Amino acid sequence: MDNTNRMVLEFESKSQNESFARTVIAAFAAAMDPTIEELADIKTAVSEAVTNCIIHGYPDCIGMITMRAFISGNEITIEVEDFGTGIEDIKKAMEPLYTSRPELERSGMGFSFMEAFMDDLEVESVVGAGTLVRMKKRIGKQPFIGLTH
Ligand code: ATP
Ligand code: MG
Repeated sequence: MDNTNRMVLEFESKSQNESFARTVIAAFAAAMDPTIEELADIKTAVSEAVTNCIIHGYPDCIGMITMRAFISGNEITIEVEDFGTGIEDIKKAMEPLYTSRPELERSGMGFSFMEAFMDDLEVESVVGAGTLVRMKKRIGKQPFIGLTH
């Protein structure tokens, strides 16, 4: 069977679209037969990435967010991109507890969650042009349950 599949979704940076994006990625990834936990990890990572586009990418306006996903074998690659403010210092932004918006009571843990819940995280950003977050996760990594000696 050809186990590759690709999707693209574009939506406005409105807060209600965070749950829209979560639902779409869950429906798309469902074909990989993930566990409830794996699915929850993917949904959380996408939520964090989309929330960042809404809050940080487009702080004063509504802009477009693109979500792309690609399934190849047992691996899903997800890209979440905005065309907003961009990040000046990516390394610093990715540090646990770093937030540029403490006044909004952000905790600075979004990138840390994406890193923890996915197997791979890459961030590309250009100030004034936007930010692209690329995450990968392998599904069904640990088939140890049921093995006996
Ligand atoms: P939390 O996610 O815990 O609510 P946070 O969003 O500040 O807080 P992270 O998600 O880890 O924390 O992001 C760290 C910082 O990286 C942000 O405070 C912001 O400065 C920057 N950042 C993240 N995503 C974007 C984006 N799409 N556009 C511009 N800046 C971003
Ligand atoms: Mg965040």
